[in-house]
Parts: sequence; structure tokens; C-alpha cells
Amino acid sequence: MARGCGIIQYRQIKQVLLIFIMLNIQENVPLSKFTTFRIGGPAKFFVVVSNEAELLEALKYAENQGLDFFVMGGGSNVLVSDQGFNGLVIKLSNAEFLIDGLSVEAGAGVPLAKLVRETGAKGLAGVEWAAGIPGTVGGAVRGNAGAFSRTTGESVKSVRVYDVAEKKVEDYSASDCAFGYRDSHFKHDKKLIILSVKFEFTLGSQEELEQKSREIIQKRVSIHPHGMGSAGSFFMNPTVENQELIQEFENQKQTKARGNKLPAGWVIEYAGLKGKKMGGAIISETHGDFILNTGGATASDVIMLESFVKQQVRDRFGVQLQREVEYIGF
Ligand SMILES: Cc1cc2nc3c(=O)[nH]c(=O)nc-3n(C[C@H](O)[C@H](O)[C@H](O)COP(=O)(O)OP(=O)(O)OC[C@H]3O[C@@H](n4cnc5c(N)ncnc54)[C@H](O)[C@@H]3O)c2cc1C
Repeated sequence: MARGCGIIQYRQIKQVLLIFIMLNIQENVPLSKFTTFRIGGPAKFFVVVSNEAELLEALKYAENQGLDFFVMGGGSNVLVSDQGFNGLVIKLSNAEFLIDGLSVEAGAGVPLAKLVRETGAKGLAGVEWAAGIPGTVGGAVRGNAGAFSRTTGESVKSVRVYDVAEKKVEDYSASDCAFGYRDSHFKHDKKLIILSVKFEFTLGSQEELEQKSREIIQKRVSIHPHGMGSAGSFFMNPTVENQELIQEFENQKQTKARGNKLPAGWVIEYAGLKGKKMGGAIISETHGDFILNTGGATASDVIMLESFVKQQVRDRFGVQLQREVEYIGF
């Protein structure tokens, strides 16, 4: 346990049913341990919740103590400030998982890797392309995680959500979710916590799906850097008006730009920024859209590098890059 850690046992008798809920709320927990970037100061308070009742208790605790809260899944798309988070971090680990014919219901805390594995093993087609993406089902739905022209939202039937402002549970149909490129309705309302997700799959062949997932993992290993902390692609792929840049991309890659969108990694590489380093943070030599923690990088190093990349790309090509990674504690 980290220096200064203590444990507050928070007990509450739940309504007349006398359900006894005990939360293990820890203090001063270094968040670097819970993020794939391996960066970040401490959470003032930190709790892992493994079911909805515990989540509600944690939220009540935050409200009673006047604390800000932050919901974390796999910590694979976040940059935590060096000062940490001055509130309660609630790590979701609700992992209920039910397969019923072509439908699957998964708790928000289920690792996306488990969803890919278990559905592939049952010959259910729909998320095999997501093999190798870290994080949870909740995080993937919120950000509409995607790869190889496929997205999580395509397989979503409905999403069960807790609305912290209204204090009620609601079901969102797929169209209510307003999925877009790395976007959903939930991304714009921090008071909405995804509890569980119903997916609808199509019937496929177990062998083919598992083979596809293996191939995708191999492809990812060959094009993505590994062995250092990161949050995956740091910037979203920009929509570009600069026709010369689009032409250059199409000539170099011998492929058409889709809807004037260019891969951020290619734009950063073309700006000559691969290998650019600030403190412990570096633009990967393998993939221009990955900022890596070479060891000991601070959030400030990452932010300085982000600003530098944005400014260079804007000055050279008139393209404004947008960050995909979520900031916490800034
Ligand atoms: C090596 C690597 C490769 C990656 N490859 C890809 C890729 O190919 N495609 C892609 O899209 N992404 C990729 N990512 C990014 C990341 O894995 C995804 O965005 C992932 O879906 C984030 O899920 P998470 O559970 O880790 O979310 P977290 O990082 O924990 O959280 C991200 C945001 O979602 C919110 N959130 C999390 N859970 C919930 C919930 N239940 N309800 C409401 N809000 C919630 C958090 O509050 C935060 O704002 C990659 C990351 C890494 C490190």
C-alpha cells in the first residue's frame, strides 16, 4: 500500500432490507498503477466497486462528503495529472456476463478482451475486430472504441445507465446513444454512468472468428509500439481541408482518404515529429499517434509534447488536432 494510505471502512445499512454494504475506500492511492500510461498522482480517495449497489453507495459517499468523483474503467484512455485527483475515483469492476442466443449482456467493468474471447468462442460475430484493445466494455461504449473501420456502437442494442443528477437508472436504445467517431451521448454528460450493455451479434463460425482475432492481434503487434506506457492513439484522426495534404497522403499510401479524414499518425509523421521527446514522453518511432512513457514521464511532459505537436501540425498544414485521451485532475 502506498505511503499515507489508510482505509476507511464505510458501512451503511441499506433501506429496510438490511443489505449490508461495506466499501473499502482507500486514501492517497497512486493512480499511475491503474492507467496504461503509468502516469498520475494520487486519488484522494479510491474505491473498487463490483456491483451496482456498491456503486450507489460510493456515489452517496462522495455526495455526503462533498467530493468530486471520477469513474474509471481500465484506465487505458486517460492521462492523470501529476497532482492526482482531489476527490473519489470509483473503479468499475462489475463483471456480470450473460450470453443468451445472439444477445450478450455485459457489466460495464467487463474487460473488452473477455467480450471478444467469450463471444468468439460461441461463434458470435460482431466484436472480433476489437481483439487487442485494452479497457472495459463501459469505456469502449462511452468512447465508441473502434479499429479497422469497425466500432463498438455497431453491435450495441441498448445501454443501462445510472443518471447521477436524476438519481435514476435509464435504458438507452442504440439510437439514443448517438454513436459517432470516437463519440457517444455519454461522452458529453459526466453524470451518466454506464452500468451494463446489451449487445446483439450475428451467427458466425467459431474457428473463423478466433482466427480473425488472432490475425488482428498480430497486425496490432506489428503496427503499434509495445513495452512502454501509453494510452493508445493520443489524437483523433482529423478531417482535413488542405487538399495538398490529402493528395500527398493518397500518393504515399496509394489509398483514398475517407471523407477527407487522415490518420493522425500519418499527419504527425509527415510533419517530421516521430521520435520528438520532451522529458520522459516521446512520439513513437513506430506509430506517430502514440505518445509513449519512456519511464518516469510526467503528465506535464505529455502535455508539453501534445501542445508542441498540435502547434507544429497547425502551423505546417492548417490542421487542428483534437485529443482523444481524457484528462483527469486538471
Ligand atoms: C495499447 C493501446 C491500444 C489502444 N487501441 C485502441 C483502438 O484500437 N481503438 C480505440 O478506440 N481505442 C484504443 N485504445 C484506447 C482505449 O483502450 C479505449 O478507448 C478503451 O475503450 C477505453 O476503455 P477504458 O475502460 O480503459 O476507459 P478509461 O480509460 O478507464 O476511461 C476513459 C473515459 O471513459 C469514462 N468511463 C469509463 N467507464 C465508464 C462507464 N462505465 N460509464 C461512464 N464513463 C466511463 C471515464 O470516466 C473516462 O472519461 C488503446 C489504448 C491502448 C493503451
